[in-house]
Amino acid sequence: MAHKTDVVVIGGGSIGLNAAYYLQQTGRHVTLIDQGNIGIGSSSGNAGHIVPSHIVPLAAPGMVWQTIKWLLTPSKSPFSMRFSLDPDYISFLLRFSMSCTEENVRRSLIPLKNLGLLSSVEFARVISEEGLDCNYNQSGLLFLYKTKSAWEGGKHEAELLHQNNMPAEILDRDQVRQREPLSDDSVIGGVHFTGDSSLNPGKYLAAIKQRVATQGAVMVENTAVTGLETVNGKITKLVTSQGEFSPEEVVFAAGSWTPILAKKVGIPLPIQPAKGYSLTIKAGDRVPSQALLLGEKRVAITPLGDQIRVTGRLELSSLNTDVDQKKVDGIASAVCDYLKINRNWETLDTWAGLRPTTPDGLPIIERSAAVSNLVIAAGHAMLGLSLGPATGLLVSQLVNGTQPIIDLTGFRSSRF
Ligand SMILES: Cc1cc2nc3c(=O)[nH]c(=O)nc-3n(C[C@H](O)[C@H](O)[C@H](O)COP(=O)(O)OP(=O)(O)OC[C@H]3O[C@@H](n4cnc5c(N)ncnc54)[C@H](O)[C@@H]3O)c2cc1C
Repeated sequence: MAHKTDVVVIGGGSIGLNAAYYLQQTGRHVTLIDQGNIGIGSSSGNAGHIVPSHIVPLAAPGMVWQTIKWLLTPSKSPFSMRFSLDPDYISFLLRFSMSCTEENVRRSLIPLKNLGLLSSVEFARVISEEGLDCNYNQSGLLFLYKTKSAWEGGKHEAELLHQNNMPAEILDRDQVRQREPLSDDSVIGGVHFTGDSSLNPGKYLAAIKQRVATQGAVMVENTAVTGLETVNGKITKLVTSQGEFSPEEVVFAAGSWTPILAKKVGIPLPIQPAKGYSLTIKAGDRVPSQALLLGEKRVAITPLGDQIRVTGRLELSSLNTDVDQKKVDGIASAVCDYLKINRNWETLDTWAGLRPTTPDGLPIIERSAAVSNLVIAAGHAMLGLSLGPATGLLVSQLVNGTQPIIDLTGFRSSRF
């Protein structure tokens, strides 16, 4: 017999856990299902950067040309892609290249800004109110540059933020040295996004998981949703490896796996996995003062108390999270290029995760037009941690039928 339930959230990564948290706060009874452990997904080993400054989507002018350059110099490139004749993948690539326009940036700026700022405020509020222990650090995100051309790109982004009343400081060589004494002498300049912050994503998600469980949510782990039945445009049954559920409302928050679920109810979603890697090292006596981004290498560094997290690479790949040690080594070597840190550290962990990427760089957050009791929250690409609380709050509003706190027009899947 199917278990009768109120709201079933499928996926216990950053988006699903936040959705469960905010739904429970409004008195809904949540069943959270994950095929693995809740609080891990592609979220726990990421860089932990909370970046309201990130108002320019991945699909921006110059990206196609940059991608071609990276593909021609694979040994130096932070990017790679699989070659496949899968029609969904080819269609995604075409849509992505067509979205790399000024028009897409102009259309995306305000939705991304609204979502990012809301999330940043919610992080601060929830971490403080719930007393979450997660290495929350509000000293901003500092980009370091070694070449003039990359620094010019950073300055351009800072100016764009100024035009949108958001903070960003352009720093010369000496100012960078003052802000980050560990920066290497070859670093020529930087941009400090002072409204950004960082945390330990694994600790944060574990703490939220614990709160959600304490609030009474049913946590179903190591259980894949394998089937979905609909009657008259409504999901009536979820089939899982641990039995069946009969929910009032369903939330798809399964990251890169969301298109598989959506296909089962006849909804095509253009989301592709973009793989990245991280390594976590034991911090010695040389710990960066704030979260960093190594401009040319696109490598992120995050101080996490007695640990340092280093992440990088974007590989349009398939649904596998195998760790390629050579790629991790490449990311590690960037650290010593930009910072005065010796590579004799102790590595505590290596990890790979999948960024659920849409062709235009914006997530999908909507009540489905096709299935009446379904809310979709997926496709957050490189911002799924950062945008987690705002998305969770919006999902709770969509499920409850209350007015969303920000305009969600830009996040509808009908734009594809
Ligand atoms: C190297 C790297 C660094 C990153 N750094 C940052 C950063 O600094 N800041 C930031 O904001 N973002 C960052 N990201 C992006 C961020 O990690 C993702 O956007 C985020 O993990 C997406 O969250 P999600 O909840 O949508 O998906 P996931 O975390 O992948 O969670 C989806 C969950 O759904 C479950 N699931 C899937 N299918 C089923 C099914 N059929 N039944 C049951 N369960 C299912 C999966 O097991 C998984 O747990 C980074 C990503 C990578 C790879």
